[in-house]
Amino acid sequence: MTHGIHGHDADLIIRGGRIHTLDPSDSVTHALAVRGGRITALGDDAEALSARETIELDGRTAVPGINDAHLHAAWLGARWPHLFFGDTPPEQQPAGRLVSTPDERRAALRGAWSLLAELGITSYTEPGIGPGEDDGETGCFGTTMLDTYLDLHRERMQTSRVTLLRLFGTIDGESTLDDFERGIRSSVPTTDPRWLAITGVKIFADGIPPMATAWVQDPYLDGSHGELLTRGAVEPVEAFRRMVRLAAGRGLQVAVHATGDRSISEFLAVLESLDPATATPATGPHYVVHGDLATGEQIARMRRVGAGFAVQPLIAGHTHEWAGAQLPAERLARAWPVADMLASGVLTTITSDAPIVTPDWRTSLDATVDLLRDAEQVVDRGLRRILLRSVTLDAARQDGAETWKGSLEPGKVADLTVLDEDPVDPARAFSSIGVARTVVDGRTVFRRD
Ligand SMILES: [Zn+2]
Repeated sequence: MTHGIHGHDADLIIRGGRIHTLDPSDSVTHALAVRGGRITALGDDAEALSARETIELDGRTAVPGINDAHLHAAWLGARWPHLFFGDTPPEQQPAGRLVSTPDERRAALRGAWSLLAELGITSYTEPGIGPGEDDGETGCFGTTMLDTYLDLHRERMQTSRVTLLRLFGTIDGESTLDDFERGIRSSVPTTDPRWLAITGVKIFADGIPPMATAWVQDPYLDGSHGELLTRGAVEPVEAFRRMVRLAAGRGLQVAVHATGDRSISEFLAVLESLDPATATPATGPHYVVHGDLATGEQIARMRRVGAGFAVQPLIAGHTHEWAGAQLPAERLARAWPVADMLASGVLTTITSDAPIVTPDWRTSLDATVDLLRDAEQVVDRGLRRILLRSVTLDAARQDGAETWKGSLEPGKVADLTVLDEDPVDPARAFSSIGVARTVVDGRTVFRRD
């Protein structure tokens, strides 16, 4: 055995508990070795090594680092502790400009990162930052926030890995084909994609069912259908199609906010018309964000084109009654088809959309369990392992990064979360499980006292 530059075989050995690797055979092991931020050995091979540092699990469970595949970190950091669905009463909700100066923007991101580390989150997708929001109300989504990301990235201040989507319209609002064309031609800043991967674009196709702004096939109770938010000299549908084709044609990942079945159907039609090379870009698969009213047929077609869904079961729980004021009962009953998505094998990530709701993934997984039980599914160990994968390996697949993160296998980065109990055990609510430690790139970024 050759010894490393520090006189040890490994920088770090983690041992003495259960380690869910989420490798292709879902192996569970008892030890893991790290060198240079990478996993180098597992099990007895890892324990046989000498290490500079050893972390004793003391019977706890380690899982791959949690990846929230749709989380507005800048906005979360600027608003914290105020969530839209949380303890903050309406009159105390932050309003207007939240961040104006470079220091405020840095503080927002760094605050979010320390909060995420406490929750065991090691990666996330920042879904939508760009020039369309330069005059935005909050200051959280404009070009200056992208600059702050780049500054902190170059200063190596990150404790979370970030996938970032650019935005050429307004957040939760309209975009024009002109702005989109101009934006997509602007250069993408050079970054180390292991820490800040700028993979593609976010497009807002429609609104949300509770506001009757999701674009739907059959009318709402008031007779309306919602509409597309894409604008231009051409019809909204044509503007939307051109935006998706433009981005996909440049090898970029396209994430479309689509909640209504009409919007999803238009997105699918474009995806199905792409040539195979741009249908599945190297930067990560195209995907629907939200997908509230996706039909079973659409879910199957999404799987066939290799696209995915980033869903928010906790928002579903919070807005279910509200949506009931707009949708006929039988359509409300079919909304948020997370059980169908998970059963179909389409790429599905369980995400928070924080600060809409808490960034605590354990609460989101408990809300997913509720949706699965409503669909009369038995949430056994196998299904809980699928849920765990939806916030780790499947999120890495959405990032186009499953070759180097998302599971605990030799050669992959040492991003992991140490939990007090085994999250696969069906007897336990996810939210009752404490986070003891968070490790990113082999380095502890959070340790509970
Ligand atoms: Zn969002």
